[in-house]
Amino acid sequence: MAAAAATTPHSLLLQPRGEPGRAVEGGRHFLLTPPLGPCRQDLAERGVYNFAAGPATLPLSVLKRAQAELVDYHGSGMSIMEMSHRGKEFDAAIKKAEADLRALLAVPDTHAVLFLQGGATTQFAAVPLNLCAGPSDPADFVVSGSWSDKAFKEAKKFSAASVAWSGKDGKYTALPPFDAIKQNPEARFLHICSNETIHGVEFKDYPEPRNKSGILVADMSSNFCSKPVDVSRFGVIYAGAQKNVGPSGVTVAIVRKDLIGAAQPITPVMLDFKTHADNASLYNTPPCFAIYICGLVFEDLLAQGGLAEVEKKNAHKAGILYDTIDASGGYYVCPVDKSVRSHMNVPFTLAKGPDFEKQFIAEAAKEGMVQLKGHRSVGGVRASIYNAMPLAGVEKLVAFMKDFQARNP
Ligand code: PMP
Repeated sequence: MAAAAATTPHSLLLQPRGEPGRAVEGGRHFLLTPPLGPCRQDLAERGVYNFAAGPATLPLSVLKRAQAELVDYHGSGMSIMEMSHRGKEFDAAIKKAEADLRALLAVPDTHAVLFLQGGATTQFAAVPLNLCAGPSDPADFVVSGSWSDKAFKEAKKFSAASVAWSGKDGKYTALPPFDAIKQNPEARFLHICSNETIHGVEFKDYPEPRNKSGILVADMSSNFCSKPVDVSRFGVIYAGAQKNVGPSGVTVAIVRKDLIGAAQPITPVMLDFKTHADNASLYNTPPCFAIYICGLVFEDLLAQGGLAEVEKKNAHKAGILYDTIDASGGYYVCPVDKSVRSHMNVPFTLAKGPDFEKQFIAEAAKEGMVQLKGHRSVGGVRASIYNAMPLAGVEKLVAFMKDFQARNP
């Protein structure tokens, strides 16, 4: 699949309705199924490289496949948006999405994969509701940026959440040595945000939970499936899909099965992991289209050779961007401690100040590099370079950065 896609990146395989794989000629009864896998022609085909933090750029090959299947899904005569979530087509799509995700992350049988709604923000409440016995049950939070701070504040409503370490005084530019995290041995879980999307701080390894149940929980929204992860080390992993693996509307949760079924009595049915685990994520109407797109992204990542390959590409892309910042003689500044710089979200400022940042962002947009504005809470520039950002996009950005500096010394 990967090899075929690499040699004929945009060839359309004609397939007859309901009989994938048999090429025939012309006529209205044909599906166009562009191959997934490496196919990165964004600038040539779309006119832009999209550096948005989320919703973010999706693989062009996935969009093309979805486009080809949009009106008549696999010969059903219906879009996947128009059919029962309990029908055979969607059943196959969600099962394949789960199987491919399990293969990508080597999710062990001890863990359930759930496709949920309400965004990662809803998990800020769901996690303490499912893991803590009540509001006086302690839980530990590493607060390394805006997102883990939000998770902590929400958890306080449903647990005795406390801050085991905070990076606030250092303006969220670092992570602690793990022995500096003041873990409460009575805590029900230790919560981290594996990649702070706004501040660009990423865990390169994970702390060992010292609490009595040994539960580590991670919000992986912005680096989910960007590299291999040892899932067995986590009690709960959750991620809003709209950065690395799909559109907004679906949140993936990977939950250790023995932690399911002990939710607080006040837990709304939709926030109880057991509801979704018992019903294979089909308790109510799921976000069918979003799950289907995630399935295509998982297939695409497998076609690229899996997450070890994807990680190499991401490290290379991030490397050339950080090298450009660091070699600029202080013209561009990334405040984040080098050891924890995110491979997904690269925030930087221009030493010449906000007016030059505005000019930089406007000129970049004219050259087809869009959505580079930093988050409104921190300003500056932010280049989000998720899995689907092609290397050519980052190469174009660094060439532009060098040129901008030369023109505006
Ligand atoms: N956690 C992180 C790390 C995020 O980046 C975001 C969204 N940007 C959220 C949580 C909130 O996600 P959602 O909008 O899906 O609720």
